[in-house]
Amino acid sequence: MSRFFSEKFAGLCPYVPGEQPKQRTYIKLNTNESPFPPTKEVTDAVENAAKSAQLYSDPTCDLLVRKAAERLGVKPTQILPTNGSDEVLNFAFGAFCDQKTKAVFPDITYGFYEVFAKFHGVAYKKIPLKADFSIEPSDYFHAGGTVFIANPNAPTGLCLELTQIEEIVKNNPENVVVIDEAYVDFGGESAVKLLDKYDNLLITQTFSKSRGLAGARLGFGIASESLIADLNAIKYSTNPYNVNAMTLAAGVASLEDHDTFLENCQAIIKMREYTMEKLIRLGFTVLPSKANFLFIKTSKIDGEELYLKLKERGVLVRHFKGERTSQFNRVSVGTKAQMDAFLRATKEILEEKTK
Ligand code: PMP
Repeated sequence: MSRFFSEKFAGLCPYVPGEQPKQRTYIKLNTNESPFPPTKEVTDAVENAAKSAQLYSDPTCDLLVRKAAERLGVKPTQILPTNGSDEVLNFAFGAFCDQKTKAVFPDITYGFYEVFAKFHGVAYKKIPLKADFSIEPSDYFHAGGTVFIANPNAPTGLCLELTQIEEIVKNNPENVVVIDEAYVDFGGESAVKLLDKYDNLLITQTFSKSRGLAGARLGFGIASESLIADLNAIKYSTNPYNVNAMTLAAGVASLEDHDTFLENCQAIIKMREYTMEKLIRLGFTVLPSKANFLFIKTSKIDGEELYLKLKERGVLVRHFKGERTSQFNRVSVGTKAQMDAFLRATKEILEEKTK
């Protein structure tokens, strides 16, 4: 830090993104990206948009918003596109939390929630997950602040039923409830259906996972018109052109090709179940995931040791420190070839360990 860095950031603890190694080609199963590259329709749309890149992008993201609204069955005024869903989460911490209205989220969840809370200097409270790593919905009733729940949760992959999400929203009429649906397309049920009934619900979704556009940085918030207006006030006070023209074009092309989206989701779900079964046979505990990753541990090897040994063999997974998570690794679901290579390496490591 320089001596000029504002004192208000003294307690800042920046998010550490998953490794993006350059020195070596890894089988990359550490950041829950899609293994499927964009279609030709998407790359053509990007190329075409680049031809007019001397102009600012559309700050209203009109075409994308209309397509997304049609797909989701909501009004265009209920959608706010952002630079990844991280940005809409950032806006939400700014718009709906302060020293009086704290942020409330599980103790084991997406690490960025705590980072955002610190960045915005807001009060926050972490609620422990149950012993089986699931969320107890009633722990969040009348939460005394803005609730942030990833559903499915990360890094556990566990998912609440829509009825449980509704209970949380219904029992917080005095608070905003943010449901982060980054992984919802891999088997969860979206809370978008609840938007007609509740004006305190904000849902965040992303094109980074199920739509394979992590590098394009596109996400959005979906909520009542009044919550979206609040978020727009933050957007227009910070970065009105928050989504670039190439990304807007990629998003539209992706929404137009629903078949590829569905096929890719199904392929990931199938590969997740395949990998889970093989891991259980190898003696792993595997949490029942509804996401594009598996959270796994075994008594045969320490979590960090497995992570390091896989890395030596060219397979990158994500290890988390922390009392309840350090025995686990989070493994993104890729193609069959990637998962077979990961399973082969894991088997070898375990065999070596028991020699
Ligand atoms: N929410 C959760 C739970 C995530 O795991 C991620 C990805 N790291 C995000 C939100 C943000 O993803 P993006 O900004 O790429 O949309």
